[in-house]
Amino acid sequence: MVDEGPGCGGEAFGVDCEEAVRQLYVYLDGELTQERRREIAVHLDACGPCAGAVGFEAELRTVISSRCKDRVPDSLIQRVAAAIAEEQARQRSGS
Ligand SMILES: [Zn+2]
Repeated sequence: MVDEGPGCGGEAFGVDCEEAVRQLYVYLDGELTQERRREIAVHLDACGPCAGAVGFEAELRTVISSRCKDRVPDSLIQRVAAAIAEEQARQRSGS
């Protein structure tokens, strides 16, 4: 049984939220070591906000890659990053 608790912000899952978010792009690109991926995956599994962020990011990437093969506009990347940060801030102050 997992208590929702304070959840985010600690290092209880091997990596903390900031590190997890920082690694999101690398994680999605598959450029992490296996050990690192597992740490992130465990964190995402246990951390709602981060899991939501990575889900959103992954979905967005799928859309982007199917529509514009060349490259993702910087403006869009920034919007995604902002959305993730916003979502995390909301989650932290939410309850
Ligand atoms: Zn987290």
